[in-house]
Amino acid sequence: MKIAVVGTGYVGLVTGTCFAETGIHVSCIDIDKKKIQSLNNGEIPIYEPGLEVLFKRNKRERRLSFTTNLTEGIEGSTIIFLALPTPPDEDGSADLKYVLQVADDLGPLLKNYTIIVDKSTVPVGTTEKVRARIEAKSTVEFDVVSNPEFLREGVAVDDFMKPDRVVIGTSSERAKKAMGELFAPLVRQGNPVIYMDERSAELTKYAANSFLATKITFMNEIANLCELLGADVDMVRKGVGTDSRIGKRFLFAGIGYGGSCFPKDVQALTKSARDKNYDFRILNSVIDVNRNQKVKLINKIKKYFNGDLEGKTIAIWGLSFKPYTDDIREAPSLVNIESLVAEGAHVKAYDPEASDNVLEVLGDKVEICDEEYEVLENADALLIITEWPVFRTPDFEVMGKLMNNKVIFDGRNLYELDAMRKHGFNYISIGRKEIYV
Ligand code: NAD
Repeated sequence: MKIAVVGTGYVGLVTGTCFAETGIHVSCIDIDKKKIQSLNNGEIPIYEPGLEVLFKRNKRERRLSFTTNLTEGIEGSTIIFLALPTPPDEDGSADLKYVLQVADDLGPLLKNYTIIVDKSTVPVGTTEKVRARIEAKSTVEFDVVSNPEFLREGVAVDDFMKPDRVVIGTSSERAKKAMGELFAPLVRQGNPVIYMDERSAELTKYAANSFLATKITFMNEIANLCELLGADVDMVRKGVGTDSRIGKRFLFAGIGYGGSCFPKDVQALTKSARDKNYDFRILNSVIDVNRNQKVKLINKIKKYFNGDLEGKTIAIWGLSFKPYTDDIREAPSLVNIESLVAEGAHVKAYDPEASDNVLEVLGDKVEICDEEYEVLENADALLIITEWPVFRTPDFEVMGKLMNNKVIFDGRNLYELDAMRKHGFNYISIGRKEIYV
């Protein structure tokens, strides 16, 4: 069996590689020549744990190939996945130009019955639009299926190989059967393949991401209230998370969600609602609260230095939007660095994987260091933005000696308050007592 994946980014590359791992021949197509060249040279252009081993094996065994040529790439494929960008348009809606362009391109190229599967996150009704675009230029039978992707960057391979569930939106029995067979090796433990209509499948993805963004934001608001009421958000989290109706996950307070999905998907869902004259009030608040939460510690840093950051050196630990990825799309680090620089501070930063991506976006606004302690030399404060495990058990004695001031602003609540007191650090975190020694 042969399939094709159009778009070889975080989702497309994982999709292609993981299907190849199940014994299928997969051709990955991308318009980015540099990306395809590096993949053909055996190099992965993104950081995703566990992907390289699978990529190398399947490439070596000739089940995985890469091309910029759509005609060549889809040759002989019975199923074609679309894993294309759907970035926010100016009005917050998902920009469908990449998806619809490929639909236009595919129409005349189809030779036999083919299933086109949309894996991109797209607004309700897109499957119908894709079908219409292909139909206008195709002479063969085909089906368009909605198959939203739920993988998380950082654990994407595991998520893909053992998904909690697979959602397949189609009204075609033929497509349903083929999709069921394709995914069968990934759901052998009994996790469900849930079949539904196309529109419900499309909405499921937005509902899932918006719910998770809301859960995080709710806890961030509880954290803000904890600070005002003298409670500790970590205690509250444990107290509520043990309720099985609530669950322990996605309850950690912090400096806001980022990434390539939550911000754009929440925005796109509110736009879809607005288009139907429905005001999705919870999500409007989520967007608003998250915007403030991202720069919450900047206000605290300013207050700590009596409103004057001019000439201060602020060290940052963590740049990616979450650990185990190099992705910085909508990362809180970006807006924090911009704000600090605007206040006249000098910003030094360390991240295990995302530094190059930040340099590309911010250039000389930030000084990148190669090592977590180097960044602390003569720093007036440390700001922790991403909870990479390497930051969890640092040598506080060494830190104290390197820094000008022993003060940490922790956006991820990594340390115990008592421990910080013992180590002699002023410590300001999220939703907990501020420690001044
Ligand atoms: P990405 O930007 O990493 O990858 C998209 C790729 O598509 C890029 O390599 C780009 O060059 C390529 N592309 C653009 N136009 C093309 C064309 N005409 N032909 C061939 N290739 C083309 O994006 P991503 O993070 O992989 O996300 C893809 C989709 O999946 C989005 O809709 C996103 O919302 C959704 N999604 C992403 C994640 C995630 O964690 N990244 C998870 C679930 C769903």
